[in-house]
Amino acid sequence: AKKAVLGPLVGAVDQGTSSTRFLVFNSKTAELLSHHQVEIKQEFPREGWVEQDPKEILQSVYECIEKTCEKLGQLNIDISNIKAIGVSNQRETTVVWDKLTGEPLYNAVVWLDLRTQFTVENLSKRIPGNNNFVKSKTGLPLSTYFSAVKLRWLLDNVRKVQRAVEENRALFGTIDSWLIWSLTGGANGGVHCTDVTNASRTMLFNIHSLEWDKELCEFFEIPMKILPNVRSSSEIYGLMKAGALEGMPISGCLGDQSAALVGQMCFQDGQAKNTYGTGCFLLCNTGRKCVFSEHGLLTTVAYKLGRDKPVYYALEGSVAIAGAVIRWLRDNLGIIKTSEEIEKLAKEVGTSYGCYFVPAFSGLYAPYWEPSARGIICGLTQFTNKCHIAFAALEAVCFQTREILDAMNRDCGIPLSHLQVDGGMTNNKILMQLQADILYIPVVKTSMPETTALGAAMAAGAAEGVGVWSLEPEDLSAVTMERFEPQINAEESEIRYSTWKKAVMKSVGWVT
Ligand code: ADP
Repeated sequence: AKKAVLGPLVGAVDQGTSSTRFLVFNSKTAELLSHHQVEIKQEFPREGWVEQDPKEILQSVYECIEKTCEKLGQLNIDISNIKAIGVSNQRETTVVWDKLTGEPLYNAVVWLDLRTQFTVENLSKRIPGNNNFVKSKTGLPLSTYFSAVKLRWLLDNVRKVQRAVEENRALFGTIDSWLIWSLTGGANGGVHCTDVTNASRTMLFNIHSLEWDKELCEFFEIPMKILPNVRSSSEIYGLMKAGALEGMPISGCLGDQSAALVGQMCFQDGQAKNTYGTGCFLLCNTGRKCVFSEHGLLTTVAYKLGRDKPVYYALEGSVAIAGAVIRWLRDNLGIIKTSEEIEKLAKEVGTSYGCYFVPAFSGLYAPYWEPSARGIICGLTQFTNKCHIAFAALEAVCFQTREILDAMNRDCGIPLSHLQVDGGMTNNKILMQLQADILYIPVVKTSMPETTALGAAMAAGAAEGVGVWSLEPEDLSAVTMERFEPQINAEESEIRYSTWKKAVMKSVGWVT
């Protein structure tokens, strides 16, 4: 059959904590033409530890690319229409590998992992000068969340890593670096790079000078020779060396939350989006200014869409556990078989019946930054059943978002009039309605929830030397909006929210 001729297409790898996807978009309309998704295993070798296999992650990327290309073939779309590939990835997750063999030297230490709690406590005693040393350079609080401490742990505890560093064989990277290095040839000439957004989550990167920071590397005792080159989020890094898309330029790279900000076209100062995946991340574009929060938010690099383009910053509210609580109900309690089933359970009761669930599995992130917190389910009675717990789990995601939105409004001064949302959990209509009720502002969801991948595709398509995507709003003509208006009154919403805060206080200080 004759294959249909289309405008230029752009592919995007979206390597998330829960799954890997490859998606292909039409650069003229942002229409999603085809995609494939593979769930990723998470290993919990000890309490608080979360690991993934870097080879499985890489394999899943190849598998998704192959399958998506097959599906395009079935749609009579010629894959030679694909002009570039973007990468977006779970941030902070840390990999060290051997540049001679291409083999990882340890599992990837996932952002959620808590093994570095003691490392963090020890380091915080040694912070030079004032407590602002790390925050003023990186925009981040010293926490288990960021790569520097995970890398410190690997250097302290894994003999293979130590030896490879001594013998100049070790390379460090977040998942973007690991993938781009591997996809562009690995041990045979792979490009060792990262972009400014991913670099800004390592805690080694100076977000003002946009360079690795010598003083930070000394403080964390990280050898600078193992760090990747830092590039913009939109430029040609290298070419695919294998697979169905061999020879294709990789020309976009953004941490997943930055990618979603771009995919939602939040290019103006004050525009914000909230992404509901494994965790939940609200980012507000603050333009060319670095704004420092007084209320527990992070300052982070939003994007830099080209070598000669300016850098944009964002304020970020990070919630560690959102979709992960649904996965926990599925995998650990077995009260649902698929994540989607949570909606049916919650709908059956339509209330948590006074039950509150604080899923502080990895401590609490924004706005509390409390590593001592652990999860609690409280307010139980004889009457409580699994449906109420399911409802409380969804409500927890909404309350956590409310806390970061409140912090954002205080830091920015101008309250958000509505919330733009995306991510895997936004398919859940009950969650979206609850969110509108709890925030008491409308929640606006795009018809195409894959904005993370879209952002990476846009960056790749807009790169110099590719030039098939103009980043203008009309390029998103295939995207429509769905709105959820608040339905309960503000008073009821406030009562529920204040009870939630009481529950949060009970979760804090659990681990001492
Ligand atoms: P990530 O980018 O972190 O990998 P995704 O955006 O793919 O995450 O979202 C997956 C998460 O969303 C999983 O934790 C899953 O449990 C949750 N999830 C998926 N579908 C639903 C749903 N219908 N209701 C509630 N949670 C869901």
